[in-house]
Amino acid sequence: MFESLTDRFDGIFTRLRGKGRLSEADVDEALREIRLALLQADVNLRVVRDFVTRVRDQLVGADLSASLTPGQQVVKVVHDELRAILGGEALRITFAPRPPTVILLAGLQGAGKTTTAGKLAAWFRKQGRQPLLVGADLQRPAAVEQLRILGAEAGVPVFSEASDPVTVASRGLDEARRLGKDVLIVDTAGRLSIDAELMDEVRRVSEVTDPHYTFLVIDAMTGQDAVSTAEAFHKTLALDGVIITKIDGDARGGAALSVKEVVGRPIVFASTGEKQSDFDLFHPDRMADRILGMGDVLSLIEKAEAVVDQAEAERAMSRLQEGSFTLEDFLEQMQQLKKMGPLSGLVGMIPGLPKEIRNAEVDDDAMKPIEAIIHSMTPEERRNPGIINGSRRSRIARGSGTTTAEVNGLLDRFKQMQSYMKGLSNLPGIGRRMSKAT
Ligand code: GDP
Repeated sequence: MFESLTDRFDGIFTRLRGKGRLSEADVDEALREIRLALLQADVNLRVVRDFVTRVRDQLVGADLSASLTPGQQVVKVVHDELRAILGGEALRITFAPRPPTVILLAGLQGAGKTTTAGKLAAWFRKQGRQPLLVGADLQRPAAVEQLRILGAEAGVPVFSEASDPVTVASRGLDEARRLGKDVLIVDTAGRLSIDAELMDEVRRVSEVTDPHYTFLVIDAMTGQDAVSTAEAFHKTLALDGVIITKIDGDARGGAALSVKEVVGRPIVFASTGEKQSDFDLFHPDRMADRILGMGDVLSLIEKAEAVVDQAEAERAMSRLQEGSFTLEDFLEQMQQLKKMGPLSGLVGMIPGLPKEIRNAEVDDDAMKPIEAIIHSMTPEERRNPGIINGSRRSRIARGSGTTTAEVNGLLDRFKQMQSYMKGLSNLPGIGRRMSKAT
C-alpha cells in the first residue's frame, strides 16, 4: 500500500530540494501536486481539501526555521499533517479493572474479521494476557470452524455453540468469567453489504456483552467503500476504532488516510498479511514516515527484536556504521533476516532506499545463490573480499553452482552497500536512529 503515493511525494520533494527559497509559485505548485497525489491515492475529497488548506496555512505563516531548508520545511509540515490524518497518537488498549476486557469485532463479510479475531488473540497472548475467543458468526457455516483453527494456532480457546449469536455472546462472557479469562474477543457475523438485519444482530450482541472496545474491521483494498461502511457502523455501534486489513496488498491507501477524518475514529490495529504475526498496533507517525519514504525503522527494530539475536545484531550494527562490515556479517544478517518473514515486507521499512530498490520485486529465493556464493569463499575472503581475484571468482562460481557474473555482481553490490550504509550513518537523523537501535 502507499507505493504510488510515496513515489509522488518523492518527486514533489525532489523538485523542492534544490531550491534555496520557496516563492509563492513554488508553494502553489507543490500544493497542487500534493492535492493530486492524495486524490490519486483515493483519499476522500473533503479530507484532501482540509489537508491542503492546513499545509498551506502553515507554509504561508511559517517563519522559515534556520535549521531546515525550505524543501525540508515542506516535508516536515506534510509529515505532521499526514500523521494527524492517520490518527495522531497510537491508541493504547487499557484493561478493565474487572476482567474480562470485552472486544467486539464487526465488519462486512470478507473484510478479514475472523482472521483478525485470531490475530488479536495471538497479539494479546504475546502481551501475557489470557483471551477467550467467541464465535458469534453463525451465518457463515465455516466461520466458527475457521475461528477454532485460528484459536488453536494462537493457543487461545474458542467458545461457540449452535444457538443464536446473542445467546452465544452472552454465554461466552459467562464462560470467560468462569474461566478467569482477562480478554474476551467476540467475532460477529458479516454480510456482503450493510443491511438492517445485520445491524440489528450486531447491536444486540453489543448490548449483551457491553464491550469496552468495539472495533470495525475494514479491508484497505475496498478504498472509499471501507470509509462509508465505517460511517454506517459507527452510527449503530459507536465504534472505538478501526482495524484495517490487507495493507500488504496494492490498495492506494485512501481508506487508511480518510477514515479518521471522516468517521472521527482512529485506526487501532493494522493487518499486513495472512500470517498470525502480520498484525500490530497502528502507529500513525511510523506510517507517515513510510509514506514519505523515510522508512519505518522502529517497526523494523521491533520486528527484529522479536526474532534476532540482539548481541550479534548490535555488533553487526556497529561494524556497519564503522564500515567494517564483512561478507561473513552479511551472511549472518541474511540468515537472521530470513527469520523475520518475507523480504518484500521489510524493504519498505528501510529508510532512504532509492525508489528503484524500494519498488523492485523482492524475491526471497534470490538469497539462495548469494548464500551459496558466500559459503564457497574462504573465511579470509569473506572478511576481505578485495583479495578475490579473477581465478578465485570462477572457482567460487563453480563451487556454488553459479556463474562468474553472479559472483561479480554480488561483490559489486556488497561494495556499493558498504559505501551506502557508511553514507547513511553519516546523515544526522538516520545516524541517530540507527544508533538508537544498538
Ligand atoms: P471475514 O469474512 O471478515 O471473517 O473474513 P476472513 O477472516 O475470512 O478473511 C477473508 C480473506 O482475507 C481470507 O482469505 C484471509 O486470509 C484474507 N485476509 C485477512 N486479513 C488479511 C491481510 O491482512 N492480508 C491479506 N493479504 N489477506 C488477509
